[in-house]
Amino acid sequence: MAPSNEVLIIGGGIGGLTLALQLERAGIPARVLEAVPDLKPLGVGINLLPHASKELWELGLQDALAPVSVETSQSVFYNRFGQFVHADPAGRNAGFPWPQYSVHRGELQLALAQAVRDRLGAGSLVLDAKVVSYTDHGDRVSVHTIDSAGHETTYDGVVAIACDGVHSTIRKILHPDEGALRYSGYTMWRGTTRMKPFLDGASMARVGWLETGKLVIYPIIDYPDGTQLINWVAELAVPQRTDRDWSQVSSDGEFLEPFQDWAWDWLDVPAMLKASSHVFEYPMVDQDPLPFWTKGGVTLLGDAAHPMVPRGSNGAGQAILDTRALTAALLEESDPRAALVRYERGRLPRTAEVVELNRVNPPDALLREVFERTGDRPFDDIADVITAEEMHRMLENYRTVTGATLGALTADASSAGA
Ligand SMILES: Cc1cc2nc3c(=O)[nH]c(=O)nc-3n(C[C@H](O)[C@H](O)[C@H](O)COP(=O)(O)OP(=O)(O)OC[C@H]3O[C@@H](n4cnc5c(N)ncnc54)[C@H](O)[C@@H]3O)c2cc1C
Repeated sequence: MAPSNEVLIIGGGIGGLTLALQLERAGIPARVLEAVPDLKPLGVGINLLPHASKELWELGLQDALAPVSVETSQSVFYNRFGQFVHADPAGRNAGFPWPQYSVHRGELQLALAQAVRDRLGAGSLVLDAKVVSYTDHGDRVSVHTIDSAGHETTYDGVVAIACDGVHSTIRKILHPDEGALRYSGYTMWRGTTRMKPFLDGASMARVGWLETGKLVIYPIIDYPDGTQLINWVAELAVPQRTDRDWSQVSSDGEFLEPFQDWAWDWLDVPAMLKASSHVFEYPMVDQDPLPFWTKGGVTLLGDAAHPMVPRGSNGAGQAILDTRALTAALLEESDPRAALVRYERGRLPRTAEVVELNRVNPPDALLREVFERTGDRPFDDIADVITAEEMHRMLENYRTVTGATLGALTADASSAGA
């Protein structure tokens, strides 16, 4: 096989495709190997905070994002009685130069894939190429794939970056004895409902608390007739977890019960939940941070490197920050293997902190405070329960750890993650 100067990217999800675009912009050749034979718009809503949108804007993807997202105006918090707790302005409303997007995950993936084909060439995104193993030759890496008909192909590259998500094959090769998944004790049911906008038509609402039922609700697509596709996530304490499968459909409706009387003047929750076309079930699990990501010419990125409990809108965001840091390291180091080590040194400790914080104090933790301080009862005045300043501090602490403060983002971008 002829030597190749390409960076091989394993997995064409949000992280892998964004990495391909970052590398292309840096003048570094790349090829993406994706397992599925056809890319379909799988998944429902995710949020891209300004730290992630900044990267996508700098890649010139504003126009691609607009039709598959809604620009989020604010994050609002309510208790389960529909009482207003707090509003936290989002994105440009909070003074960031970049928006917060509530976006359809699958449509975002398709938009990124199109940009990769347009900029790197159609052959740079190889579908139906499931990576099964690799061989490290010391100065280059061969990645071995198999397609759905059973044909095997080997690709040669300078280094290989595993962006193969929560079930990462490469992570299992690097860490064969890793411990079991860590289940948080909570499971989420996710769906989308096409309906009239709620509140200002651009708010992300978090309501209630996990012990008695919590909801996260936000619009992800505007339709010309004035309706929106509303993404909702219902989270409940459940002793047993189901499989970690993003596409697992839930059919029994057991999650509906705690939300039966959640009908307020600003939203009729039971009507919204029942009108959803599909409901997916996903356990809120994560894995302990790894001792290392890099071995020779191979490293991990995104969910493959740091799967986290999906509670702070940082799954896609941290993957996108990884792509920036890795690209910067490849530009700064003449030896690509040294670049992988440099990237890991910058990103592993930071993402480990996010994994840990998502377990105990993600943004919705302020609803836990309200739940505990009120004994899960309605309040007369929220100021008697918790001050706006205390809530602001909790949210700002989360932004600090995740690298999403205005100060961190407007500081020297190249030092932000590398
Ligand atoms: C089908 C699907 C639906 C999702 N839905 C949601 C959702 O509704 N809400 C949410 O918050 N997050 C969802 N996620 C996760 C979310 O996309 C990630 O947390 C985040 O974007 C980080 O991206 P990533 O690139 O690390 O992983 P992902 O976006 O998960 O991408 C991983 C990619 O690697 C590919 N892959 C896996 N194994 C191999 C292999 N051996 N060889 C080659 N390619 C491989 C996968 O097919 C996938 O395209 C979903 C992920 C997937 C794959």
